[in-house]
Amino acid sequence: MDFTLPEELLIFRDTLRKFVEKELEPISEQVEEEDHIPDRIVEKMKDLGLFGLAIPSEHGGYGMSVLGQCVAMEELSRTNACFRTRIGTNNGIGSMGIVIAGTEEQKRKYLPRLASGAMTGAFALTEPNAGSDASAIRTTAVRKGDKYILNGTKHFITNGDIAGLSTVMALTDRPKGTKGISAFLVEEGFPGFSVGKIERKMGFRGSHTCELLFDDCEVPAENLLGREGEGFRIAMQVLDKGRLMMGACALGAIERLIELSTTFAKTRVTFGEPIINRQAIQWMLVNMAIDAYAVRNAVYHAAWKLDRGERVTKEAAMVKVLATETACRAADSAVQIHGGMGYMKGMAVERFYRDLRLLRIYEGTSEILRMIVAREMSR
Ligand SMILES: Cc1cc2nc3c(=O)[nH]c(=O)nc-3n(C[C@H](O)[C@H](O)[C@H](O)COP(=O)(O)OP(=O)(O)OC[C@H]3O[C@@H](n4cnc5c(N)ncnc54)[C@H](O)[C@@H]3O)c2cc1C
Repeated sequence: MDFTLPEELLIFRDTLRKFVEKELEPISEQVEEEDHIPDRIVEKMKDLGLFGLAIPSEHGGYGMSVLGQCVAMEELSRTNACFRTRIGTNNGIGSMGIVIAGTEEQKRKYLPRLASGAMTGAFALTEPNAGSDASAIRTTAVRKGDKYILNGTKHFITNGDIAGLSTVMALTDRPKGTKGISAFLVEEGFPGFSVGKIERKMGFRGSHTCELLFDDCEVPAENLLGREGEGFRIAMQVLDKGRLMMGACALGAIERLIELSTTFAKTRVTFGEPIINRQAIQWMLVNMAIDAYAVRNAVYHAAWKLDRGERVTKEAAMVKVLATETACRAADSAVQIHGGMGYMKGMAVERFYRDLRLLRIYEGTSEILRMIVAREMSR
C-alpha cells in the first residue's frame, strides 16, 4: 500500500494553499459581513481553473481524479465555506448529472461554460414537502409537442440566484414513484422560470440558498437529461460523490480548527502559563488530531475506491457522517479552547462553528445516511 499523494497533487495542493492564504482568508470576514464574494475573486478562481476540476478535459475541464477533487475541497475549506461552495456546484451536483447522463450535444453545449465558470450550475431536488423524502416531490413536467411544461416550487437551492443552468427533478409519471422522476436542464432565461425568496441562514454567508419557481416553465424536450424516469437514479449517483466531497470539506475545516486552536492555546496565558500546558486543553487538541487522522484516511480511501470505478454508496454515506459529525465536535472544542473570544463575531472559530452545522443536514442528513448504510449492510 502506498499512501503518498502523487507529485502533481502535492504541487496543486501547495498552489491552492497559497491562494487561500493570500487571496481568500484575508477577505473571509468582509465576505461574511457583505454576504457576497467580490467579482475580482471569482475571476481569480476562474483563472485557476477551479470551476472545472471535475469536468472531463474534452469538455474544457481538468478531468481531475476524485482524490484530486478531495484535496482541492480540503484546501478550500480551510477558510470561509462560501468560497468552496461557489465552485462546488459546478464541480459536483450542478454538472455531474450531465457528465453521467448527458447527450453529446448537452455536454458540448453546457460543460465548457460550467468548466470555465462562465455559467454557474445548480441542482434542484428539494421542495417544501420533500427533503429527506425526495420521492415526495410535487413539481411536474408534462410533455407538450417539443417542450416539457414544468410547474412547481423548489427550495433551499444553493447558488440558485446566480445559476445559469439548474438540473431540476420533476415528476413525469407520478404513479411510478421514484421511477417517475425525470431530470431537466433549465436555463435561467426559460419562460416561466424565476428565482423566488433568498433565505436568511445561520451561516454560509456569501453563498445564497434560494427558492426556484416554475410557472408553466417551458423546457425544450432536448433538455431532458437521460431518459424519462431516470432522474432519481441520476440524482442519487450525483449525491454519492457529493457526500464524499462533503467529507473532504469537513476534513479541511478540522485541520484549520486545530491550527487556530493550537496557536491560540500557545499564546493565551492563564494563572501564569499558556493554556496549552494544561492537560484539559491538550486532550481537546489531541482528540481533534485523532479525529482528523481517521477522517483523512476514510475520505482518501473512499476517493481511491471511486477513482477505481467502484460503487461507494455505503462508503460515501459513512464518510459524510463520520467527517461532518467529527467536524462539529472539533468546532465545539475550538470555541471552548478560545473561551469567550471563541463566541465573538470576527473570530474564525465562531464562523466555523455555525457553518459546519449545515454539513450534517444537506446532501443527506446524518439520519438518512445511517439508513442508507443500514440498507447497504443488509443487501
Ligand atoms: C443551506 C442549504 C443548502 C441546500 N442546498 C440544496 C441544493 O442545492 N439542492 C437541493 O436539492 N437541496 C438543497 N438543500 C436541501 C437539503 O438537502 C435538505 O434540507 C435535507 O435533505 C433535509 O431535508 P429537509 O430539510 O426537508 O428535512 P426533513 O426531511 O424534513 O427532515 C427533518 C428531520 O427528520 C429526520 N428524518 C427525516 N426522515 C427520517 C426518517 N425516515 N428516519 C429518521 N429521521 C428522519 C431528518 O434527518 C431531519 O433530522 C439545502 C439545504 C440547506 C439548509
